[in-house]
Amino acid sequence: MTLAATPKIELHLHLEGAAPPAFIRGLAAEKREDISGIFDERGGYAIRDFWHFLKVYEAATSVIRSPEDYRRLTLAVLEESAASGVIYCETFISPDFCGGRDLVAWRDYLAAIEDAAAEAEAKMGVTLRAIVTPIRHFGPEKAREVAICAAETAGRFVTGFGIGGDERVGEPEDYAWAFDCAREAGLGITAHAGEWRGPDHIRATLRALRPSRLGHGVRAIEDLALVDELAERGTVLEVCPGSNIALGLYSDWRHHPIGKLFDREVKVTVSTDDPPFFRTTMNREWDRLADAFDWDTGVFATLNKTALDAAFCDRDTKDMIAKKLEAAHG
Ligand SMILES: [Zn+2]
Repeated sequence: MTLAATPKIELHLHLEGAAPPAFIRGLAAEKREDISGIFDERGGYAIRDFWHFLKVYEAATSVIRSPEDYRRLTLAVLEESAASGVIYCETFISPDFCGGRDLVAWRDYLAAIEDAAAEAEAKMGVTLRAIVTPIRHFGPEKAREVAICAAETAGRFVTGFGIGGDERVGEPEDYAWAFDCAREAGLGITAHAGEWRGPDHIRATLRALRPSRLGHGVRAIEDLALVDELAERGTVLEVCPGSNIALGLYSDWRHHPIGKLFDREVKVTVSTDDPPFFRTTMNREWDRLADAFDWDTGVFATLNKTALDAAFCDRDTKDMIAKKLEAAHG
């Protein structure tokens, strides 16, 4: 079986950040909003550097507003996932953008997203679960409100809690209340750390928020004692190599630390983060990794297994996905 045809599991995908450019262009046209400046001549997002990326991201996502917009966005995103062979995906969604942290409004957005997920599962064979995330740079107070929205809607679809946004703002312990609230509601815990800040921030995050997974976490490589600690604890890294390379964290695929982390027995998984902004897909990530590290299908089967073990969904869903993987990997 070719890599492209192999079923894949993705744990780290921002729903708005996965919006296909054509979808955003169409939505902007319907709303008569001119955001043509964010596209390049080929119709993709035009990104120059990290700061420009944030600007383009903000402009693109500003046109996604109503629950109906989110329903259509979810379908458009899952179509792309299915095209890369993704059979199970966890996506970050935020009450900050979906209803301004109002619980009643949040339920409406969630219903629309879940409705699209059910449709995509029936039509395209891709299963979606949601990780609710406050935006770090909006501050701890708003994170508490987000955690309450997450706790109130925890269940089969909302299965996790994380934190995104600017990693350089605030300290992990500022958000401990929100994470404790989510954990008590039975949600799986992940946190972005070790992308824009180094090993000390990863340690502080592990201590204060007690996540079973880290978003990125790759800068652990700067401290091998921490790498060994991650391996020992079994902390799972949601690694997004194409995103890191596009944003200039590493110069190229061969210099990305995922190879070393894998060799030192850290539990790594592979995701796309905000794929169209970084001109990537799950197929492209797997292809580049196979080239850079000579990884064969056995390694990718291991990545899939690690990702499924670390997934926040219920047992029935895991069993269903495991059967699909078994059929593919033999
Ligand atoms: Zn991310």
